[in-house]
Amino acid sequence: MIVILKRNPNPEQLESLIAWLREKGISIHTSAGVENTILGLVGDTSKLDMDLIAALDIVEDVKRVQEPFKNANRKFHPEDTVIRVGDTQIGGGVLAIMAGPCSVESEAQIVGIAQAVKASGATMLRGGAFKPRTSPYAFQGLGEQGLAFLRAAKEETGLPIVTELMDLNQLPLFQKYDVDVIQIGARNMQNFDLLKVVGQQEKPVMVKRGMSATYEEWLMSAEYVMAGGNENVILCERGIRTFEPFTRNTLDLSCIPVLRRLTHLPIVVDPSHATGKSYLVEPMALGAVATGADGVLIEVHNDPAHALCDGPQSLKPEEFDAVARKLLKIHSLSRSLAETAP
Ligand code: PEP
Ligand code: MN
Repeated sequence: MIVILKRNPNPEQLESLIAWLREKGISIHTSAGVENTILGLVGDTSKLDMDLIAALDIVEDVKRVQEPFKNANRKFHPEDTVIRVGDTQIGGGVLAIMAGPCSVESEAQIVGIAQAVKASGATMLRGGAFKPRTSPYAFQGLGEQGLAFLRAAKEETGLPIVTELMDLNQLPLFQKYDVDVIQIGARNMQNFDLLKVVGQQEKPVMVKRGMSATYEEWLMSAEYVMAGGNENVILCERGIRTFEPFTRNTLDLSCIPVLRRLTHLPIVVDPSHATGKSYLVEPMALGAVATGADGVLIEVHNDPAHALCDGPQSLKPEEFDAVARKLLKIHSLSRSLAETAP
């Protein structure tokens, strides 16, 4: 349920409304907009008398929110969420460019790639230390050592780091190495215990879309994180499973305008895992930015032919450089078109 307040509501009446709702076990999410302030009510609102609330002096309107996701709902929070990470941000008109190898392989590899992608305009460094591999015999990531190398690359370049958390037990290590953005991978999108735990800490969380997840299921995963108190959630589209085996997955770009309507959370697109083929990364990344994505996540490797993971979809640093330049052009063009739109 949302309660839209009149302009400049009487502070005592507002306080007593909030106290009354809290007594009923409802938690309240306040969103102060330019025109109105909105109270988003989360909890069992089925027994609340809407007419009684609507009749209050300070209340302009009361509406039920049908969708099961509340904190993530744009109706609760009409303005876009902007997430600050170090000196950069995700959302709010800055194109987030997350780039780096699938897996951290050595200190020299990650530091070298970090320097290259930074010079090309990347705003964040990605790299897996804990890898969810289909085969137990495939490279599983360097684990803690990988996190230490990522931190060394961050110290060298200043780029904030984004890396995947696979298990609850790894969280203390993420804190020890000061990981800036915690990635929840597609395979863990509905690992609810993991979502609850990352919801109870402060670092931003990027929730990748599960391979067969609907928009609602995906947003409910974001809701799990937000229900724990962490509102800094980023959604990442990385392709879904369809009947088409030619590409690794099928990139669903229509999620961008759909999610824009449904949620205030920033949306990042990963054309690398979505396509599985390096030559498809550029066109799909450009399409994502033209469609309004807040950022992209692109795998970059110094030597894709010998990468320990996901070489076929990885760009070489010089290829990434060319893509990043085009992305920034498309981004500024689409922003200026949006501003001049009638
Ligand atoms: C990754 O980004 O390294 C990854 C494993 O992606 P996904 O969870 O989307 O498969
Ligand atoms: Mn990968």
